[in-house]
Order: sequence, then C-alpha cells, then structure tokens
Amino acid sequence: MDISVIIPLYNEAESLPELEAWIHRVMEANKFSYEIIFVNDGSTDNSFEVIRELQKKNPAVKGISFRRNYGKSPALNTGFRRAQGDVVITMDADLQDSPDEIPELYRMITEDNYDVVSGWKQKRYDPLSKTIPTKLFNATARRVSGIHNLHDFNCGLKAYKQKVVRRLEVYGDMHRYIPYLAKNLGFNRIGEKIVHHQARKYGSSKFGLDRFVNGYLDLLTLWFTNKFGKKPMHFFGLLGSLMFMLGFIAVICVGAIKLYNLTHGLHYTLVTDSPYFYISLVTMLLGTQLFLTGFLGELIVRNSSSRNEYEIDEEI
Ligand code: UDP
Ligand code: MG
Repeated sequence: MDISVIIPLYNEAESLPELEAWIHRVMEANKFSYEIIFVNDGSTDNSFEVIRELQKKNPAVKGISFRRNYGKSPALNTGFRRAQGDVVITMDADLQDSPDEIPELYRMITEDNYDVVSGWKQKRYDPLSKTIPTKLFNATARRVSGIHNLHDFNCGLKAYKQKVVRRLEVYGDMHRYIPYLAKNLGFNRIGEKIVHHQARKYGSSKFGLDRFVNGYLDLLTLWFTNKFGKKPMHFFGLLGSLMFMLGFIAVICVGAIKLYNLTHGLHYTLVTDSPYFYISLVTMLLGTQLFLTGFLGELIVRNSSSRNEYEIDEEI
C-alpha cells in the first residue's frame, strides 16, 4: 500500500464526508493505493456513524473509536500502530488541511528521501490570539530541539516514512513535538513544505489558550528526558554539588569569622546572627535533596525495561 492517511477527530461529523470525498479524489487522480484511518477520539456527536456510512461506500476507509476522549496524541498513536502504507500522512479532520498536498508530500518522502515532512501553514487563517503565541512557541521549540529549519512544529499535516511511524510513540500532548521526537530517535532528515490552510468551516477548535502553557511544560520535559533520561544523576548531581559547595563555603566563612573574632578578642556574635548561616543551611539541604533525587532517578532508570534499548539502523 502506498499511503495511509491518519485522521484524529473529536466531534467533527459535518466535515468528514467532504474530507473523505476529497482524499478519495486526490488518491484516484494520482493512482495511489491507500487507506484512511479515522480515529474517533470519543466524540459525543455522531462522527462514528458518519464513518460507518463512509466505509460502506469506500472500503479504503477504516475506523477506530475510543470509548472516551483521550486527546489528539493518543489518537495519533493508535493510528500509527495500525498504519500499513509506505508513507503515512496525518491530517486534521476539520478541513483546515488540504488533501491536495498529499502527492507532493508523498514525493518528498519517497524521492527526496525525507524521514519526516512537516507542513508549514505560512498563511494561517486562525485568530490572532492563536497566531502570535504560536510564533513564540515555534521559536522556542526550534531552539530547544535544534531543528532550525522548521517553522511550524504543531501542523496537523505531516508525512512520515513507515519506519519512522513504527518507532514513534506519542502520548500526553506530545503531538506538538513529533519532529523533535523523531529527531531523538535518530531520524534526522526532517523537511518542511508550505501548505495551504483554511479557516475552520464547521465546528470549533478543540484547544484553548492553555495549549501554550502545556506546550512549554512538555518541551521542558522532552528536553530533560532526551538529555538526561538515561543518566539523571548527571543533572541532579551537578546541581546538587553546586548547591552543596555553595553551602559548604558559606559555613566555612561563618566558622572562620567566628573563630577569628574569638581568638583575637574581638567583638563576636552568635553564628545564627549571620545571613551566611542561613544561606549555608538552605543550600546544603537543597544540595542533599537534589542528590537524593538523582539517586532515585538512577534507581528508576535501572529498573526501566528500555534502559538498554537503542535505535539500530542497519545490521549486516
Ligand atoms: N482532536 C482530537 N482529540 C481532541 C482534540 C482534537 O482528536 O481531544 C482532533 C480534532 O478533531 C482535529 C485535530 O485534532 O481533527 C485538531 O484539532 P483542532 O482543529 O481543534 O485544533 P486547531 O486547528 O485549533 O489547532
Ligand atoms: Mg483545526
């Protein structure tokens, strides 16, 4: 099979027939063999009934339905596990992404040999409250992930090689950082294609402004797990040592000043009158805590089944 199209959806019943017809048209025109995997993320409208009807007309349509709403990432992940096409394409269900992009995306994966191609909604038809924070979000993501050529990490329209999708595991809200996840798996050929974007025709957006707060937190998590996930002590140990040293120096200062004053018959005060005493107390405690966290982290890693799993590209 040439192409799997994965479409996560949550209450998008009105859009689905149009979307399916459009994809079908594009696939026929380009003579692709394909499947469309609709992942119904616990919709409360009749989305899945619509998918059932679509399947009766077109056997390339497949549907999976969650019993409740989990989020876009779990929906995508479930689709990834099922996809059989050589090239896997994800798109949103709301008709904001255009199926006309599929042939070029397919070409970029198969001929230009990209592992991942991400869409770039250069001209967006979304409210300003969304486009401005998005610019900031993408700039941060570019810096942290080191993927400098991407403008739009969270575009729903993306294409992947089958082998990338087999390894990708998306959970929580991590769909925003799929290129970063792919890069962490060693898939370095990440490209971008400018795609057409349309205003939402039916229904309403499923994400509010909290997406930006959660987005930053997830980025921090990814950065941390990628860098220190298998050696947490290198992170906590360094911070802990710095803290502890700071405290240690402060405590020496406090003691030395007191001793000096005592032995030279100068005026002296209680050590608890010195601010250094409190600084040393706090930093030494924090340092110890950080060390303990590091040790706990190491114990967790030691017990994880993936501690010795690596991405093997080839074997001869
Ligand atoms: N979506 C989903 N589960 C959710 C929220 C959204 O499957 O919990 C789907 C939604 O139906 C759509 C896609 O994810 O197909 C993108 O959502 P939306 O269009 O609301 O996001 P926006 O375009 O506003 O970023
Ligand atoms: Mg949308």
